[in-house]
Amino acid sequence: MSVNILIIEDESGVREMVSFTLKRQGFNIIAAEDSQTGLKILGEIFPDLILLDWMLPDINGIDLARRLKGDERYKDIPIIMLTARGEEDDKIRGLDTGADDYITKPFSPRELGARINAVLRRTSPSHSKDVISISGLTLDQKGHRVHAHNAEISLGPTEFKLLQFLMVHPERVFSRAQLLDRIWGSNVYIEERTVDVHIRRLRKALEPMAYDRMIQTVRGVGYRLSA
Ligand code: CA
Repeated sequence: MSVNILIIEDESGVREMVSFTLKRQGFNIIAAEDSQTGLKILGEIFPDLILLDWMLPDINGIDLARRLKGDERYKDIPIIMLTARGEEDDKIRGLDTGADDYITKPFSPRELGARINAVLRRTSPSHSKDVISISGLTLDQKGHRVHAHNAEISLGPTEFKLLQFLMVHPERVFSRAQLLDRIWGSNVYIEERTVDVHIRRLRKALEPMAYDRMIQTVRGVGYRLSA
């Protein structure tokens, strides 16, 4: 499953260098130049990780990290703070607010990639697992197969991707816009109710084994997979 990274950084040079090098390492990058833009993007997409600059023109990185970590919708998204050399106190404050790691500018692309992978391994172990299993429902990410106990469940490609995304991120609520972005991609124009259609199909396929109940509707927000 591809990894989406949101970088919030006002220095265009750093933003461009990070975007360029991380794309080459296979990550999808979304860039924002200030906190307000970052927050707006967060309403529409779901990043797997946020690179957050400490000095930003509007809301500073520390305050934004604190705000995200205190928000039910965003608290599980890992954050790596980008700090300038000599801001030792800020690093400690950054980790106090719940940031998962920090990296000091200037940093090498290799170091950044290694830090990102380490944080992802720690915070979202399902990403790198071949087989994810939740309460007897098993999804093989490599073999593209789903089993409920020992019976194979046949799913269409979209329903498979939907279930895969929800199983990689269990117990988290996603809006229809976020699911559209992650399953269909941001360059495709599809109406939000398309998500409901595919959720319905997914539930129907899971129903014979009573796993449809794991796909929950969260009123006014979207959907969640819960054990
Ligand atoms: Ca800055």
